Amino acid sequence: MRHKNTSYYNILREKAESLIAMQEEDIVLFDQSENAKIFHELTVHQVELEMQNEQLRMAQAELLVAQRNASQFFDRAPVGYLILNSKAQILQSNRTIHEWLNYHAGEFENDKYFVHFIHHEDLIIFNARYQAFFKRPENKRIELRLNRYRLPPLLVELSGRLVKPHVLQANAPEEPYLLVNVVDISSHKQLEDELRLAAKVFENSDEGILITDHQLRIVKVNPAFTAVTGYDADEVIGKSPTILKSYKHSPEFYRQMWNKINREGGWQGEIWNRRKNGDFYLECLSINAINDQFGKVTHFIGIFSDITRRKQTEEQIEIMAHYDALTALPNRVLFNERLKHSIVRATRHKQWVSVLFLDLDRFKTLNDTLGHFIGDLLLQGVAKRLQNCVRESDTVSRFGGDEFMIVLSDFEDEQSVTLHTAEIAQKILSELSKAFDLSGNKFMTTTSVGIAFFPKDGHSVAELMKNADTAMYHAKEQGRNNYQCYSDNMREQALTRSTLENDLRSVLENQELVLYYQPIVNLQTSEIVSFEALIRWRHPKRGLIPPDLFIPIAEETGLIIGIGEWVLHSACQQLKRWHEAGRSNLKMSVNLSARQFMQHDLVEVVKHALNLYALEPQYLELEITETVIMKNMNQTIKMLKGLQHLGVSISLDDFGTGYSSLTYLKQFPVNMLKIDRSFIRDILEMNDDKVIVNSIIAIAQHMGIKIITEGIEHAGQIGYLKNQGCQFGQGYFFAMPCVAEECLFTVENFG
Ligand code: C2E
Ligand code: MG
Ligand code: MG
Repeated sequence: MRHKNTSYYNILREKAESLIAMQEEDIVLFDQSENAKIFHELTVHQVELEMQNEQLRMAQAELLVAQRNASQFFDRAPVGYLILNSKAQILQSNRTIHEWLNYHAGEFENDKYFVHFIHHEDLIIFNARYQAFFKRPENKRIELRLNRYRLPPLLVELSGRLVKPHVLQANAPEEPYLLVNVVDISSHKQLEDELRLAAKVFENSDEGILITDHQLRIVKVNPAFTAVTGYDADEVIGKSPTILKSYKHSPEFYRQMWNKINREGGWQGEIWNRRKNGDFYLECLSINAINDQFGKVTHFIGIFSDITRRKQTEEQIEIMAHYDALTALPNRVLFNERLKHSIVRATRHKQWVSVLFLDLDRFKTLNDTLGHFIGDLLLQGVAKRLQNCVRESDTVSRFGGDEFMIVLSDFEDEQSVTLHTAEIAQKILSELSKAFDLSGNKFMTTTSVGIAFFPKDGHSVAELMKNADTAMYHAKEQGRNNYQCYSDNMREQALTRSTLENDLRSVLENQELVLYYQPIVNLQTSEIVSFEALIRWRHPKRGLIPPDLFIPIAEETGLIIGIGEWVLHSACQQLKRWHEAGRSNLKMSVNLSARQFMQHDLVEVVKHALNLYALEPQYLELEITETVIMKNMNQTIKMLKGLQHLGVSISLDDFGTGYSSLTYLKQFPVNMLKIDRSFIRDILEMNDDKVIVNSIIAIAQHMGIKIITEGIEHAGQIGYLKNQGCQFGQGYFFAMPCVAEECLFTVENFG
């Protein structure tokens, strides 16, 4: 007996022992009557009963504790317990499940059916399987969702064990009960889903994934890995990722990469690797170390995508954005960046920079007459020669069309920049003026170069470019094929422009304009057939100003309309005088500017002048430049037709210098082409001039258009032009332009 030390029990035992002792020793001393004996035995018996009673009481208390413990275990178990009968009535349930489902214990009582707590979508499964589950629950599991009060359903797994009925109630019927274990598997499920998802991502990722153990042995790769590298999984598992190594990076590169991974747990960057077939490829790779819960690295994961193509496209885009497609020279964008960079560097080191602006002379004509194919070849040839004229560190760029820009940098002082730039400019002029062999034919070109220096001529990209451009125009004005350095003079000239503009406003009023006349000669007969009226400005302070200096200003300000009308009237008046003096076959050519030509009442203005001086319209020729007619083709054609209808004839002046192409000629009703004098100057020496002039003459003849060549200065030119079938000529060889009073009406017979 376990409770022998209990005090009350000990007292009883001592009492019983003393009574037994009395029986042996002292009973003889008493009256040994039967009664006394019985009393003694009863007393002993009573004590024994009391002892048994006490034992029972203690056992009961023990049982109660055990029962309370059991119920605690049942209630507080980490799984839900349900005791169900064959009809799935809940006979007992533990607190865990009450708490899970968020219901009071009372709601599980009163023999409630378990189905009451099952999510409606899972009822069919439960009903279908419960009987089998009840009868043989071993190794069976049911997964379903249980409804919870005001909470989303809980995913659980049921497993069971049959229990004898007397476990519950002593007088229970013979039917067994089912003890159901309810396990919350929602987090398992979530984990499972996550794992499944991760596996799917791994399998289907577009990015290659490679997993190694901590010793860098490959343990897993995905299909994208195989697609990029060409290696199947079983070819690489167990091996080191170095099988992909391209050896394009230095050991230092890898050392830094691993340093970073070891220090920060990861690395990301671009790396060249090699496929199974030996091809190199560029991948964007991120490597991450995976640690266990103790922080020890267990794996490395490499995730990469093949960016070889993207890189190539990026490079392509970069080239397209920064380089000229035809010549592969840096374009305007890159040039600006480089010049900016040069300026910053030069500022820091107190150095000098020069900017050269180049424009090929008459390129547009060559392009139009000989075709774009030849034009492109020429530009490519020019680009190559320009590059040969400078150091590799200098930038030669094509700005589009026939414009090129060059930056020369790193000069210590003004003297060295000036000297060196002049040398380069000279070299460029002489290199570019050598004949180009284009598709079997020799062609010549020249160029005009404008130069601006940093910091003297400007501190910004825009300023330097603008001033180099101004200088280039100056070079063109100086007769092309030369270079000019920007000077403040040029700015001064721009300044005088504004004073000129001012003075021009009173030019008619002050009668400062005068017409000069230059004869046009029939090359076949040596006769003067007409005179061209050429305007001059007798400026009171500046002397005789040529039209090139003020006509553009008159154009811009609109003063040309008044000036143009004055020219038309004066020329008609002069012609009338000459007619009256007996030169009755003489014609007069009058130049029209763009603005005049766009005047909607031009036909009326011309008609009025002819009427005023009683001149027949066939004696008047109007000269317009091709840039004028190209401006608004529809309106031009309408205007030309109106003028022709009036009876005056139209000449296309300076032909070959603008943008028009011979093919346009068909559309314009013109009577004459005046080939620009720049083609005539070197016609005997320059192959391309010959080609251009010959083709213009041939096409014009074909279309019934007459040809005049300007700028004839030598007898040799006449011979050549006559042979080509050119009818008319004009130039200093015959006569310089002069005032009417000095005009001669015959020229020396050259023929
Ligand atoms: P343009 O109409 O092409 O006139 C021919 C120009 O070439 C004239 O210059 C003439 O002096 C020059 N010239 C003639 N023969 C030779 C030669 O053998 N060699 C050289 N080097 N030059 C020669 P100019 O008079 O200075 O006129 C320049 C331009 O000004 C004209 O070119 C014309 O476009 C314009 N212009 C002249 N007068 C007027 C006018 O009254 N109204 C308008 N709107 N423009 C005019
Ligand atoms: Mg003219
Ligand atoms: Mg001309």
